[in-house]
Amino acid sequence: MKSALLPTYKRIDLSVAKANGTTVEDINGKKYLDFGSGIGVCNLGHRHPDVQKAIEEQLQKYWHVSNLYHNSIQEDVAKLLVENSSGDYVFFCNSGAESNEAAIKLARKATGKTKIITFNQSFHGRTFGAMAATGQEKIQQGFGPMLNTFEYVPFNDVEAVNHAIDENTAAIMLEVIQGEGGVIPANQSFVTDLEQMCKQNNILLIVDEVQTGIGRTGMPFAYNHYGISPDIISVAKGLGNGVPVGAIIAKRKFYDVFGPGSHATTFGGNPISMAAAHTVLQHIFQVEFLQQVETKGENLKKRLIEKVSNLSLVSDIRGEGLMIGIECTRDISTVINQLMQKGLLVLSAGQNVIRLLPPLTVTAKEIDLAVELISETLIENEVLLYS
Ligand SMILES: *Cc1c(COP(=O)(O)O)cnc(C)c1O
Repeated sequence: MKSALLPTYKRIDLSVAKANGTTVEDINGKKYLDFGSGIGVCNLGHRHPDVQKAIEEQLQKYWHVSNLYHNSIQEDVAKLLVENSSGDYVFFCNSGAESNEAAIKLARKATGKTKIITFNQSFHGRTFGAMAATGQEKIQQGFGPMLNTFEYVPFNDVEAVNHAIDENTAAIMLEVIQGEGGVIPANQSFVTDLEQMCKQNNILLIVDEVQTGIGRTGMPFAYNHYGISPDIISVAKGLGNGVPVGAIIAKRKFYDVFGPGSHATTFGGNPISMAAAHTVLQHIFQVEFLQQVETKGENLKKRLIEKVSNLSLVSDIRGEGLMIGIECTRDISTVINQLMQKGLLVLSAGQNVIRLLPPLTVTAKEIDLAVELISETLIENEVLLYS
């Protein structure tokens, strides 16, 4: 069938008919266990009943009013974000890229400086500023010249950052666990040193939590594992459980930087997204819920290590909470396809990493089944390759 869509995605041969919890069903009635959650979006599982109810109730009230009017649901969501983070004020937008655009603009306007240091293999989105911030040539290919105010340095390399800092440096922006780049955690000492260097040189620390935030790693935000206090945090993916929404959370000192008329978006913080986000945060920012995420994640990682870490095909298993990467010694696109045939949806990151981002509501039984399917598939490939 001829498609009227621009071919921007390499589509996998799967047409979804419906989804519920951790299960996705295709148009032929085949069921899959979804260990991708979109891309770390449906953190409470597909169509979580409380989120659905909140959205339906909001649909009965009103769908959109301009940001020219007060909106109490925005206040409620912002309150939960600031109560659970190092920030004090929130700006709502519609996506991860847009949240990073806001972070970049805020950093430049607040400091009057222009240079922002980012990292190799980072991913910050596809809009012009976020693309320029992204330290991957393949994302920028054909769209040049980039904004020349970003400098990319090797991840986990303090000396390289130190070298890149100059008097025009406004900010350092990083994912504390690189997602698209291959589920690569920053070292503790690296993050501690970055925060120190930022303080000493009057540079802002921006943490891109678009993928790692909202409970994904067993803490409200992944930076919580590192004991730092970022100036600006960007979030999106998991915030609306499937409804588009993004946000930045900024410290008190930035309150006056974006005055009225300085930065805005028509749809940002729209009531339907806010209704979803409010319910999402009420569930996820509970100590017991986050502890369960951590326990499930530890169990998943431990089970994978037991089952597949001895394979020649597997070079590393890493991650925090329910963000896990299985690094392989070769391209894993066929493995991902084989897993889908067996009824398990997973993601890739980079060329060689199988990335698992199950819903945070995943059950122990679902984890068992996924581990079985992954080990079975990797062992089959191991036998073909190495015997
Ligand atoms: C997905 C992602 C983005 C971009 O988010 P969009 O909603 O696709 O614009 C930015 N940063 C990180 C870390 C991401 O994982």
